[in-house]
Amino acid sequence: MDLQLKDKVAVITGGSVGIGLAVAYALAAEGANLVLCARNRKRLFQVTEDIQQQFPVNAKAIQADVSKPEDIESLVRQINGQYQGIDILINNAGVGSNETIMNAADEKWQYYWDLHVMAAVRLSRALVPLMKNNGGGVILNNSSICAKQPLYYEPIYNTTKAALSMFSKCLAHEVIGENIRVNTVNPGLIMTPDWRKTAAELAEKEGITADEYLDRLAKKYTPIGRFATPEELAKFFVFLCSPAASYSVGSTYYVDGGWLNVVN
Ligand code: NDP
Repeated sequence: MDLQLKDKVAVITGGSVGIGLAVAYALAAEGANLVLCARNRKRLFQVTEDIQQQFPVNAKAIQADVSKPEDIESLVRQINGQYQGIDILINNAGVGSNETIMNAADEKWQYYWDLHVMAAVRLSRALVPLMKNNGGGVILNNSSICAKQPLYYEPIYNTTKAALSMFSKCLAHEVIGENIRVNTVNPGLIMTPDWRKTAAELAEKEGITADEYLDRLAKKYTPIGRFATPEELAKFFVFLCSPAASYSVGSTYYVDGGWLNVVN
């Protein structure tokens, strides 16, 4: 199926590893041009170069911490300098947390609010005009199953991802008249390097291997009994980016191996 993404321009936050990088590869394979951002410059520039070498697309790396308004301003300035219009924005940058509500300081709440919510607000506000220049576009917000079904060790993550989902719904309503489709994806367990690192640490304490730890986790939480690969999830993102998903507006899609325990 031709997903009609050739020559589109996609901006992906947190595009240097994990889900964001898998989406970048999958979009490049469809012929889309990329703007990738992340904080770690070395890793970001390396993966961007790799993509550029493998696909006949234009891939640009811009170092930015999207929790900071000044970095977003600089990112947007550079995008404006290169493109008169863009087509796709994927608000993906994010990170898990670990705290109790009783012990977490305001600063931690503020950081996650800026990273998970305000980054999407600020980037959408700045880039919607560039989508209008191209006659429309797609914004995908990468939230989490935890926006609906919390993991109780990370209340700040759960709360800020829930807010991102509501922001996404409201934005969808506001911009569909401009032919801009906004949707949310709620992944479940996706096997990224960070999961492997965490598992290695926790498994050691329990005297098991990282693989055993991850397998146990997947079987405990998901009816499917395994993690997804980032590439599996990326296919879903690419579909939602494409005109094949033209009637999908303001929805939240779970890609979670059946983990969500309610009818949504
Ligand atoms: P990774 O840790 O593998 O990648 C995160 C990406 O975001 C990296 O490119 C990282 O690069 C970037 N990033 C982190 N903080 C910032 C920041 N402040 N500014 C700019 N870039 C940043 O994460 P995943 O791929 O696992 O997760 C991606 C998204 O998917 C997150 O929003 C996460 O909440 C969500 N998700 C993941 C699940 C999973 O099981 N993996 C499940 C559900 C949701 P750098 O560190 O260089 O900035």
